[in-house]
This record gives sequence, C-alpha cells and structure tokens, in this order.
Amino acid sequence: MEFVFRRSYRGGLKAAILDWAGTTVDYGSFAPTAAFIRVFASHGVTIELAHARAPMGLMKKDHLRAIARLPEVAARWQAAHGRPCTEGDVNAMFAEFVPLQIEVLADYAGLIPGTLEAVRDFRAQGIKIGSTTGYTREMMNVLVPEARRKGYEPDAWVAANDLPAGRPYPWMVYRNLIELGIFPAEACVKIGDTLVDIEEGLNAGLWTIGVALSGNELGLTQAEAEALSPDTRATRRQEITARMQQAGAHFVVDGIWQAGAAVSAIQARLAQGERP
Ligand SMILES: [Mg+2]
Repeated sequence: MEFVFRRSYRGGLKAAILDWAGTTVDYGSFAPTAAFIRVFASHGVTIELAHARAPMGLMKKDHLRAIARLPEVAARWQAAHGRPCTEGDVNAMFAEFVPLQIEVLADYAGLIPGTLEAVRDFRAQGIKIGSTTGYTREMMNVLVPEARRKGYEPDAWVAANDLPAGRPYPWMVYRNLIELGIFPAEACVKIGDTLVDIEEGLNAGLWTIGVALSGNELGLTQAEAEALSPDTRATRRQEITARMQQAGAHFVVDGIWQAGAAVSAIQARLAQGERP
C-alpha cells in the first residue's frame, strides 16, 4: 500500500499544566535559593546565587546533587573536605534543606501578576488547570493552601516526589492528565520558567510556553525587573528567549500575563491539524 491514513486531532486545548515558583507564584523564583546557600554553608562550602539557581526546576534533592556537581562547587567541596561530595552528603544536606525550605515557603507564595486572569481566561475556553513542580509533597502542603488563600487553585497538582522521578521526566504531566481525565497530549500545553520545564512538557508530548521575565532565568524580583532599563530588559529577554527556544519552547512570553496570546496561537494551529 503506497498511502495510509494518519489521524489528526482538530479539537481545542483541554489542559494547561502550570509550573509553580517563577510561573504562578514567587516572582523571580527566590524561595529555594537562600535555603540552598545556607545548607552548603553549614557544610563548610560557600556557593553563589548563580550556583543555587543553575539547576532550578529539578526535584529539590536532584537540584542539591546538581549544585554539588557544578565544577566550581565540586572544587570547593574537595578543598573543604579533602574528598568529593558523596550521595551520603546529599542525603544529609537534603534532610537539612527540607525544614529550611518549608519555613520560608509561605513568605514566597505571592501570586505573579496575571495568574488569576490567565486561569479565568483558560477556564472560559474549557481548559483545565494542572500543575507540576520541583517541590516535594511536604512543601506543596504548605504552598497549595497559601496560594488558595490568594485565589489560585489549580484543578490538579502533583509533587516531584509523588512519582519515580521529577523533571525532566514526563511522569508528573501524565499524572495530571490522568487526574484531569484528559487526552490526547497534543490538546495540552505546559507553561514554565525553566529549561527543564520545557523539556518536561516536550517529553510528555505537549505544547510548551516559556515565561522569560517572571522566573528563575531572569532571577529578579518584580520591582527589580521593572526597574531595568528598556535596553537591559530587551537584551535579557532576548538571551532568555534564545535559551528557551533552543530548549524547544514553542512560544516564549514575558510572563503568564502574556500567555493568552500564545494559547490562542496554539488553538489556531490545532485547528489546522498541527501537532506540538
Ligand atoms: Mg519554576
């Protein structure tokens, strides 16, 4: 047979899977950074903010391990301890990290502007709201009620340690789709602030939207971000957009407040029979 038929989905978007810190809450994704710096310091190793931010988006224990493996940090660890950082050290640091992170989470639960409007707009289009994160369930048990008090409550949330692996594996997305009762994957979009968010979405077969200015990539508070000169802002936006596009993002916007236009563009592409 020379030709076969290929099925193509022509329906609309059914779910948006939103990241938490840097996407819907905690402008600049600050909550984890101080805790990582404190935990390494308590083990005699000074790390910089850039080290703490580099692996952002991963499950927090994977994140700790990834910081320890950064060449600069590994060299400092070797100098301080006379040996490399072991899995035992990672376990000990993670045990210290969890209470530190939980202690500050509520202070960083402020909603990113546009979150409630975007959720309302998506729901009006029949799009359900799911969510994934690098936080563990213990941490989410603090963050989720805090966000609810501020008016944000996704229809589903899954924590990074609910499944055998966090990002970039697609398992958290799949669990959301199961809980929301939604398929196919091309009827869903992942929105997040880190490269590993994009990777997670692509691994699950979703459309992806990166948020460039509200998250870890820019790493500034809302006030700091708004105080940037137009030139600096444009340059940083361009650099971050290039990194996200290189990671495979279908769209890159400044923040969730701009996600509506990208969602409309995806709806139009789906209607044409396009896939992510
Ligand atoms: Mg994030």
